[in-house]
Amino acid sequence: TAPVLTIDGPGGAGKGTISRMIAERLGWHLLDSGALYRLTALAALRKEVALDDVERLTRQAQRLDVVFAVEDGAMRILLEGDDVTRAIRREEVGNAASQVAALPPVREALLQRQRDFRQAPGLVADGRDMGTVVFTDAPLKIYLTASAEERAQRRLRQLREAGEDARLATLLEEIQARDARDMQRAVAPLKPAEDAVELDTTQLDIPEVVERIETLLAE
Ligand code: C5P
Repeated sequence: TAPVLTIDGPGGAGKGTISRMIAERLGWHLLDSGALYRLTALAALRKEVALDDVERLTRQAQRLDVVFAVEDGAMRILLEGDDVTRAIRREEVGNAASQVAALPPVREALLQRQRDFRQAPGLVADGRDMGTVVFTDAPLKIYLTASAEERAQRRLRQLREAGEDARLATLLEEIQARDARDMQRAVAPLKPAEDAVELDTTQLDIPEVVERIETLLAE
């Protein structure tokens, strides 16, 4: 089987950017597992499925009609043929994603889909439970963190770059609420795998983090 590098951690620790850069540099595939939860949530919001209707949500997760396409070096995500690359990044969708992600049958429904991304020459898997549940045999597991304040700042910058506005205090509250939900849920709670290497990125910039992970990979 192809090698996997798992990168887990709370939202805003830089997992997305760092996973993408490492996958690109290695020429490996990339799994943005959070996108699958976001897509399930967006499909539910669009079809007005209640976020606690476990049966319908599970069916939606099973049948999720999604295409991850690379166009001009950028990833585009299509849900039932509709480009939702930007729509799934909305705060509302992220919050709904963290609610549906707390439902064990929904997680189960997305499990095989995630494992199918493991193909030669290798996979960088970004999420919350990549090292603890989905790819337990990964040879290198990274757990990325950063202080909640730093993550709120980064999120604010991201939103502003995307032309959206938000208040720092509100973002901080949302990040803390999402952390609490992700860490306290009964199934696949957010925590480092026993054999994960923890990297606190509060004081590190992106190239420094990429370099540290590449050094660990080469060991
Ligand atoms: O990483 P991202 O913010 O896109 O993830 C959205 C939500 O999906 C997270 O807050 C988390 O609740 C859930 N998630 C998860 N397991 C993963 C990836 C994401 O539960 N592997």
